[in-house]
Amino acid sequence: MKRRFALAAALVAILWAAWPVPPLPEVPLAPRVLDRHGATLAEWPGPGEVATLPARVETALLAAEDHRFRYHPGIDPIGIVRAARENLQEGKIVQGGSTITQQLVRTVRPRPAGLKGKLWEASEALRLELRLSKDEVLSAWANRVYFGHGAWGIDAAAQVYFDKETAHLSLAEAALLAALPRRPSALDPWIAPEAAMAARERVLDRIEALGTADSDELEIARAEPLTLRREAPYGHAPHFVRTLSLDAGDNPTSLDLDLQLEVEGIVRSTLDELDGRNVDHAAVLVVERRTGDPLAWVGSADWEADDGQVDGVLAARSPGSALKPFVYWLALEMQTITMASIVMDTPGSWGTTHGTWAPANYDASFYGPIRAREALACSRNLPAVRVLEQVGVANLHRRLEELGVTTLTERPDHYGLALSLGDGEVRLDELVEAYRRMAEGVVGDPAAAALVLDVLDDPDARARAFGVDSVLEPDFPLAAKTGTSAGWRDNWAVGVTPVHVIGVWVGNFDGSPMVDVSGITGAGPILRQVAEIVSEPGPMDFGHPSLVAGPICPETGLRRGDACPLGMKEQFLAGTAPTETCSHDERSAPLLISPEDGTTWCLDPARSPEQQAIPLRALAAREAEVSWLVDGVEVAQGEAARWVPTSGAHRVTLRVDGVEVGRSAIHVGP
Ligand SMILES: [Zn+2]
Repeated sequence: MKRRFALAAALVAILWAAWPVPPLPEVPLAPRVLDRHGATLAEWPGPGEVATLPARVETALLAAEDHRFRYHPGIDPIGIVRAARENLQEGKIVQGGSTITQQLVRTVRPRPAGLKGKLWEASEALRLELRLSKDEVLSAWANRVYFGHGAWGIDAAAQVYFDKETAHLSLAEAALLAALPRRPSALDPWIAPEAAMAARERVLDRIEALGTADSDELEIARAEPLTLRREAPYGHAPHFVRTLSLDAGDNPTSLDLDLQLEVEGIVRSTLDELDGRNVDHAAVLVVERRTGDPLAWVGSADWEADDGQVDGVLAARSPGSALKPFVYWLALEMQTITMASIVMDTPGSWGTTHGTWAPANYDASFYGPIRAREALACSRNLPAVRVLEQVGVANLHRRLEELGVTTLTERPDHYGLALSLGDGEVRLDELVEAYRRMAEGVVGDPAAAALVLDVLDDPDARARAFGVDSVLEPDFPLAAKTGTSAGWRDNWAVGVTPVHVIGVWVGNFDGSPMVDVSGITGAGPILRQVAEIVSEPGPMDFGHPSLVAGPICPETGLRRGDACPLGMKEQFLAGTAPTETCSHDERSAPLLISPEDGTTWCLDPARSPEQQAIPLRALAAREAEVSWLVDGVEVAQGEAARWVPTSGAHRVTLRVDGVEVGRSAIHVGP
C-alpha cells in the first residue's frame, strides 16, 4: 500500500515537472500612439532583447527585487516567511515576497485570485526554473518588466531615462532604474526627482548590505548627480501624449495630427506677432463638443524651451471674465433675469471679509443701465457682480463643480461675489469642459444654455465694447468669451461652435504680466484662426426649440410699445417674456432711470472721481429738452449724461422741457 502510494506520488511529480510550461510571451512591442485616423503621433524605443545583463545592472535589479534569486528554486521560502512576519507586524501587506521568477510567470498569464492563484504561480515558477537557466529567467524578466514612461524592458528604460545603452549604465543609474518597476509613477524622476533619488539611495544601501559591490564603487554611485535625458518627446503633441497611460504596442487616441500641427503653427506665429509685449507662453485645447474627446492639445508653443515642458492646458490660472457666462446661465435658469432685463453698470461696493470691495470695469467707465444681453456680451463687471448677488455665490460654486471644475477647493464665501470676475483659479482643460457641458446641457437647462451661447455669438450686443469688426465675428457660428485676469497676467478665449469647443490661454508660466495684451489681441486671434479650421457648415445660430422670441424696447427692456423709437427681438425662456408694455412716448410719464432714488454710491479712493462719474439716464419723448440738476444747479443735458460726484448727500433733479419730472435723493460716500 505504502509502496503504491509512493509510486503514484513519484508519477505525479514526474508529470508535474514534465508537463509543458506555457511559452514565454514575446518581448512587448514598443508603445506607439496613434491619432484618430491611425497616423503615428509618437513612438518609443523598443525593449530590445538583452541576453546577458551587465553585472552592475544585475546587482541593482537583484538588490531591489529579489536578492536571493541566485539561490532559490523559483520561490523563496525565506522571503515568504519574512514577508508574512512583516505583514503581521505592520497589520497590512508591506512585502509581496514574490520572486523575479514568479513575476515572470505573471507576465505569461495573470495570476488568478486567492490562495489557489498563489499556489499555481509558485508551481509554475518552480517548473519554469526546471527549464530555464537563472540567466535566462533574469533577462527574460528584465526585458519585459515596465519601468514607466512607456519603457518596457531594461533596454528601453536605459534609453528613455538616460539616453544610453544598457551596457553603459552606471551603478547609480542602474540602481534608480531598479527601483522603478514597483512604483513607476510615484518615483518618476522628472516629476519627483527627490523621491526617485531616495529610492536610488535605498537600492544602493541594499547593495552595500548584501556586499555585492565594493565600497569605492558605492561611494562613486552615491555621489553621482541625477542626469536624466532631457525629456524629449518621441513624436508630436508631447504634452498630450504625456497624459496617457500607455500600453505596449498601439495606443489609439482621439487626437487629429493634422489639426494638431496647424494649431501648433498658429500658436507659434501669434506669439511671434506679440513679440515685445512680454508674452512667452500659450496653450490651446480643441475638443469634440459632443464627447469632450481632445482633437488638438498644445501645452506650450515650444517643448524645447527651458519651461516648454510645462503644460498650459493643465495649469490652474485666474480666469478673469471667462466664468461670467455661467453666472448668467444660472440667473436665466433661476429666472432672476431675462436677457432683456435692465441691469446696472454703475459703481458699487460690497463688504467682504477683507474689507470693502469696489470692482471697476476693465475700461474704468460705467455704461449705466443696460440690458443683460449687452452686459454679458460686453463683459461688464458690475452687472455680473449684481447678477451673481441675486443668484448666490454658493449656487455658482456648486454649478462650476458640477461642470467639472476641480480647482475651486475653498468654500464659496472665500471667493465671494468676486468669483463672477474670475477670482479663483481654473485649468484650461476644465474650463473647456465646463463650456462643453453647458453647451450640451449636461447639467442645467439646455434652453438657457442655448440663450447664453446666442448672446456670446451676438455681434450687435458686443459692438459697444469691442467694435463692430471684432476678431470674434467670423461668418460661421462661434459663441466666444474672452477673459483677462488682474494685472494682465492671463488672457483667455473660449469658443463654442456647433461641433467643437476651443480653449485658448495666453500668458507667462511664471505669472509675469503681459504688456497691453487683451482677450481681443492675444487669445482671441488664436481662437478665431483655430475656429476657422475646424468650423463646418451647419445651423447658423445656437437656437433651442423652447426659446420664444418677442419684441422689446431696447431702452427699457419692456415689451415694445407703439411709441418706442427702437425695437428689437429678444429670446426668452418659455413664460419669462415681459408682460408690461413700454410707455416710451408718453410725455406725461418720463422716466428717471439713473441714479435711482435712495442709492448710495461709494467712491474708490484709488481712482479719480472722473473715472467714477455717475450715469444720468432718463427716458423722455423725442425732441424733448432734458436737463439735469444736482442740488439745484444744472450739471448736464440730454437723456444720457454723467455727473462727476462729490461726497455727501445730493438731490438729483430731472427736468424735461423746463418742468421738473423726477427727483432722486442719493448719498455719495468715500
Ligand atoms: Zn420703449
